[in-house]
Amino acid sequence: MAQKVLVALDQGTTSSRAVVFDKAGRMLAAHGVEFPQIFPKPGWVEHDPHDILETQITALRQAVKLSGVDVEDIAAIGITNQRETTLLWDRETGECVHNAIVWQCRRTAHYVERLMEQGYGDKIREKTGLIPDAYFSGTKLAWLLDRLDLHERAERGELCFGTVDSFLAWHLVTGRPHVTDATNAGRTMLFNLKTQDWDDELLAMLDIPRACLPQVVDTAQVIGTLDPAILGRPIPVAAMAGDQHASLFGQACLTPGMVKNTYGTGCFMLMNTGEELVASRSGLLSTMAWRIGGKPTYALEGSVFMGGATIQWLRDEMKLISTAAESEGMAKSVKDTGGVYLVPAFTGLGAPWWDMYSRGTLIGMTRGTGRAHVVRAALEAIAYQSADLMEAMAKDCGHTPTQLQVDGGASANGFLMQFQADIMGVNVVRPRVMETTALGAALLAGLATGVYGSLEETAAVWQRDLTFEPQMEGYHRAQLLAGWHKAVERSLHWAKD
Ligand code: ADP
Repeated sequence: MAQKVLVALDQGTTSSRAVVFDKAGRMLAAHGVEFPQIFPKPGWVEHDPHDILETQITALRQAVKLSGVDVEDIAAIGITNQRETTLLWDRETGECVHNAIVWQCRRTAHYVERLMEQGYGDKIREKTGLIPDAYFSGTKLAWLLDRLDLHERAERGELCFGTVDSFLAWHLVTGRPHVTDATNAGRTMLFNLKTQDWDDELLAMLDIPRACLPQVVDTAQVIGTLDPAILGRPIPVAAMAGDQHASLFGQACLTPGMVKNTYGTGCFMLMNTGEELVASRSGLLSTMAWRIGGKPTYALEGSVFMGGATIQWLRDEMKLISTAAESEGMAKSVKDTGGVYLVPAFTGLGAPWWDMYSRGTLIGMTRGTGRAHVVRAALEAIAYQSADLMEAMAKDCGHTPTQLQVDGGASANGFLMQFQADIMGVNVVRPRVMETTALGAALLAGLATGVYGSLEETAAVWQRDLTFEPQMEGYHRAQLLAGWHKAVERSLHWAKD
């Protein structure tokens, strides 16, 4: 096969990127274009749909140009995207009726409160695997239909709802398919993980007509060909996946029990649970890993709200460091935190604590506590929070993973990765290609188009760079964890009247 190049479109929250890979998973080129964030009111976040589309097309053209590859050699394109962000457009003209409502936007918090009061909490959890929240697309779509008085038009099939994957597919693929993949559908709070279809009861709950919803397709599936006006050739668009799901695939976490953690602004940990849809007892989400060949693979997901953002806080607000990278040397300059713990519960705590009234707590200081101790405590806090997620996953699925695959900006920090291994007592493995989200989308597209003959062939592309092995004594680990949990206890309920 001559055509061996794969391109990933990575449509993120702050930028649109495109990455060109060869069949071996080597990055040939990448290009990203940032776009504006729109904050119409406190707590509201929007994107201009034209920005999303235009920056993505520019990123694609530039990345291909930079790579120097012949467009003829591009076998397929895969899309990965910021999840939950909600768009609604006119089926005739393609024009959106409103800006995209971004996943972070809190404007529909009262919708969620109402659903909880009406007693829908357990039903939503059981059917969608999600903990009801304004974060997911369902209430955002309900808000658009209500606020813009669009129920009848939606009923008549004149409007199309979609997450970003769906929106890009509509605009980039010839014939305008109205599709979304199962991983993205799984983040709407409208998708039944068991039946793999939109759920009529949940649609009725939010008064959403089926006629505006996209068809749910597999994660790796040819949905059509790229509009030739974009690159001059109709290249197959062959995968769509939410960013965290693509990264789980790009980390080759293909067998049940494998886990990845992405250390970005927040941390996102996903564990492949295979064909089994595990209902969490620890406040984790059940979600799709992916759907391939019509067969769903499930995952457990947990997130840390303040991951790398804790380091940004040290840099920008506390001015304890001038760059994020500096935190590593400073943490290593002391032998421990001297008993100091930082619980970065600035916006409350997520799984397994779920306390929105918990607040940031710096505790255990003595007269000898210095800057380096606090910086070290901040890095350790990222690891402790991740360890709590891993522990919750282990409890939910009944076995402890033997290693953790890592990526994201803060995984560059060697101190943090070593401490993560120490505190969890498992190997922490960093891959050669850190762009695992883009790689995952490219691999999925390659799988759908026969560039790879099997899942195993895609997994073979993943390569280990560094392994951090646990070196801490069990008793020391237990002592540190006990201190951390004591500190977390102190931070709980703080902002509650
Ligand atoms: P996102 O995709 O969420 O924007 P990235 O994966 O780009 O995040 O990672 C950026 C985050 O990682 C920032 O919050 C930054 O503080 C943190 N970070 C980057 N480099 C380091 C480092 N060497 N040590 C600790 N944190 C880091």
